Amino acid sequence: MKLFISTDMEGVMGVSSWTEMEPGQKGRECSQSVLRELSWVIDELKQSGINSQIEEILVCDSHSRGENVPFGLFEDERVKLIKGYPRPFYMMHGLDSSYSLALLIGYHAKAGSEKGVMDHTYASSCIYNIRINNNTVGEAEVNAYLAGVSDVPIGLISGDDILEKEMQAFFNPNIPFVRTKEGSGRFAAKMYSPSLIEKEYRKQVRLMLDSYKNLQCKKLEGKIELEIDMITSVMTDALAIVPGIERLNGRTVKYVSDDYRNIYRMIITAAMIGSKFVDYK
Ligand SMILES: [Zn+2]
Repeated sequence: MKLFISTDMEGVMGVSSWTEMEPGQKGRECSQSVLRELSWVIDELKQSGINSQIEEILVCDSHSRGENVPFGLFEDERVKLIKGYPRPFYMMHGLDSSYSLALLIGYHAKAGSEKGVMDHTYASSCIYNIRINNNTVGEAEVNAYLAGVSDVPIGLISGDDILEKEMQAFFNPNIPFVRTKEGSGRFAAKMYSPSLIEKEYRKQVRLMLDSYKNLQCKKLEGKIELEIDMITSVMTDALAIVPGIERLNGRTVKYVSDDYRNIYRMIITAAMIGSKFVDYK
């Protein structure tokens, strides 16, 4: 059995702004926090009945340039780490059908969610909204569909209460969720204590292991329509140059494919191109 863990930072315990993640003392504290959350998950997996069946736990460091999870601090030789940027499947890079479950740790609400701590979708500097088949989606939904391509269900998610509500609306039945904080604004939250969060991780990992055979994959079949609203029209001017993209208006592009992996790559493309034009004038 192989497990995949994608880690973001915005939903990690104790963190309320991107300033806190910058290099230096604060950034190191954030890195230690994501490491602690990962350690609780891995420790609970090791204490479970499936420990002897686990061949690999692949951690995919998926925030910013993928340089957040301290390397070499996992004692277990089955744990491996994907880091660095850019990479074609960014937040889910390395996931394939040989994995049984994918976990999304430290995730956050989609762009525009009221009180969602550091709400955004893939690139806060340039992407205003992403719709797939006319539904507005965030990173957790986008990544769950990519896992679905490999028939891998999402087993557990963690982040704030606003993301929790979004996930309750997206997943039916609900899947194990660890709430790390309650959002009071984009850069403000009521933080939960690490000991409470550790208890919740251990409980939700056990719940995941009890129920994972019933978890459903999120799959999209047939023609898939992607629409992306960029924040400014110059970002759309640039993105509309990519072959296969149709421009719908000043800030919106459309892309259609029957292969979700291409939809995912186009989202990454939009984030990379758009971010080049943030300060362009
Ligand atoms: Zn992030």
